[in-house]
Amino acid sequence: MRALVQTGFGGPEVVSLRRVADPVPGPRDVLVRVRACALNRLDVLQRRGPAVLPGFRLPHIAGMDVAGHVEAAGAEVRGHAPGDRVVIDPTLGCGSCGRCGAGDPGHCASVRVVGGNVAGGFAEYVAVPERLVHAVPGHVALDEAAALPSAWSTAWHATLTVGEVAAGETVLVQAAASGVSIAAVQLAKRAGARVVAVAGSDAKLALAADLGADLQLHNDADVVAEVRRFTGGEGADIALDHVGAATWQTSMDSLRAGGRLVTFGNTTGDEVTISLAGVYHRGLRLLGSGAYTEADFAAMLSAYYGGGLRAVRMAEYGLDELPAAFAAAESRTAIGKVLVRP
Ligand SMILES: [Zn+2]
Repeated sequence: MRALVQTGFGGPEVVSLRRVADPVPGPRDVLVRVRACALNRLDVLQRRGPAVLPGFRLPHIAGMDVAGHVEAAGAEVRGHAPGDRVVIDPTLGCGSCGRCGAGDPGHCASVRVVGGNVAGGFAEYVAVPERLVHAVPGHVALDEAAALPSAWSTAWHATLTVGEVAAGETVLVQAAASGVSIAAVQLAKRAGARVVAVAGSDAKLALAADLGADLQLHNDADVVAEVRRFTGGEGADIALDHVGAATWQTSMDSLRAGGRLVTFGNTTGDEVTISLAGVYHRGLRLLGSGAYTEADFAAMLSAYYGGGLRAVRMAEYGLDELPAAFAAAESRTAIGKVLVRP
């Protein structure tokens, strides 16, 4: 098959289109013919190096978010047959530890991630255990399904499972036009919350408004003051922040007494300063989001399939256009998912 093979760390030139052996599915595996695979930040980080996930080895085929058709199924596979339309949950645990038993493979000590530390979807075919394969109904396009796995599961987990966003609450969403936040804005609205979206350009704020955000604020605005005004002086009930150092203080200061901050990323830096008095006097709750669970993934898909939610896609590229795909995904003006299609 044709596949994008990463042989070093650096720019897009470390990845090249090559012919490699077709993956051979084991008895409990499903061989999926890839229709589309979304580019993720992890794909970019691990291309630049160093590797993020333990067990990563070169040469590597990246691509975590895969949708396509079942090409073949192992002898013991019961739930999927050739021709089925499917999307893949990229997170696979060992299957035997306590975390895996709890449906939480993302915290398994020997977690494997399709496209992360095992071969992924920037190829014509990928073979994965049956347990990771989920059906895609006819009314959802496979290109759309490929935009869901990582970003929407992460958003579901942070917003609903950890953040417990509830009807009537006010939710501050930082970097509101990022892949994860596009989902988080919609999931918070779906839960009945009011959403304050913060982003760095008019185009991004326009998208946030289109997705249902009730108030749009530019990065340069006095976000804390605007949130207070919007909430009658109280502050937000919850802040969803995967930006990290650059937005941390604004997120903290925007919260009401007893408010909660869900942190699930550190794009702009990993270290912040916290006033302990600011936390304990105001009764703030700091919540690290952690990995999404199998239940999150299933619930997210079910909600999405139910309608009313929108995966935003920016552009599509062929396997032979990877440099352009990376350039699009790494641009600061990127909005929505970049898809790679074999
Ligand atoms: Zn495990």
